[in-house]
Amino acid sequence: MIEEESRSQKAQSLVSSQGNEEVDAFENTLRPKDFQNYIGQIEVKENLKVFCQAAKKRGDALDHSLFYGPPGLGKTTLALILAQELNVHLRMSSGPALEKPGDLAAILTNLGENDILFIDEIHRLKSTVEEILYTAMEDFAIDIVVGKGPSARTMRLNVPRFTLVGATTKASMLGGPLRDRFGHVERLRFYEADEIQKIIERSAKILDIHIDSEAAQKLALCSRWTPRIANRLLRRMRDFAEIRHEGKITLPVVEQGLESLSIDEKGLDHSDQLYLRTLCEKFNGGPVGLSTIAAAMSEEENTIEDMIEPFLIREGFLKKTPRGRQVTESAWKHLGLQGGRLI
Ligand code: ADP
Repeated sequence: MIEEESRSQKAQSLVSSQGNEEVDAFENTLRPKDFQNYIGQIEVKENLKVFCQAAKKRGDALDHSLFYGPPGLGKTTLALILAQELNVHLRMSSGPALEKPGDLAAILTNLGENDILFIDEIHRLKSTVEEILYTAMEDFAIDIVVGKGPSARTMRLNVPRFTLVGATTKASMLGGPLRDRFGHVERLRFYEADEIQKIIERSAKILDIHIDSEAAQKLALCSRWTPRIANRLLRRMRDFAEIRHEGKITLPVVEQGLESLSIDEKGLDHSDQLYLRTLCEKFNGGPVGLSTIAAAMSEEENTIEDMIEPFLIREGFLKKTPRGRQVTESAWKHLGLQGGRLI
């Protein structure tokens, strides 16, 4: 059980979007600072470049922008690049951190002209806080209630013209009134193998790590097509290389390292394998509802939906049907199972 838990935590830390301070510092070191170093997502980048140029030409704030897609694909990084391009300040917050309307009002009133307010996990905003955003986004003003009881009255306060950049892993959970107030909505996609390889090689250069191109290629194929995971795997491989192989990351180092981390040749980690095994072995492949899977795996529904399923769907191991989640033929084959029995 303890072994199971620690393996699960090890796997979790690779996919989790929340890190500790050390992990955050590591991510920040590797964050591209401009569009040129931001690899892939070509259409999104091209659109944003045009919008930035237009806003600069008009001397106006950029339109409110929403980025959505699985964690670790570069939403926060894009927001930071936008601030850099536009030469404005960026204030960061997140849906769960803004507990009261007053929290948001305090941030908005302290923004500078044309600044960017970045709200991560914007789908988790409380409705009372979200309502403040409506007038702020549209009229650059907020209505605040002063006093209590019968003497309470509403006061309108102007806020600077600003750009809201929202990021979410669940665009479908965003209410219509909020979604409609974004001038543009960009979907970030999983990266291609060659793009992830470039990201790994770029990161290795910044960190002064020697990595063979075949090792980088192998690592790219096991990174769930996600830059954050590619960078974290690179860091783990550096540890293996430093302790056991004189610091050089070669193909055998990567192969051994992936095995130690229980990552298989398709890039499935312990949580993915457990998910597929649970569906196959306990529910005969599905269809089965998310809450039932979550209970069977002792895992949170959010984690499953955000971190595990998008990758399995993209890999063709899983389908979402109106009756629930169902594994595909390839998942049975990959696990070496058929109809619930070992082949
Ligand atoms: P998200 O906000 O979508 O969860 P982040 O923007 O925090 O993801 O990106 C996670 C990490 O991945 C960052 O540290 C950054 O170094 C790296 N990264 C993301 N997108 C790219 C990219 N297009 N090119 C290079 N590195 C990237």
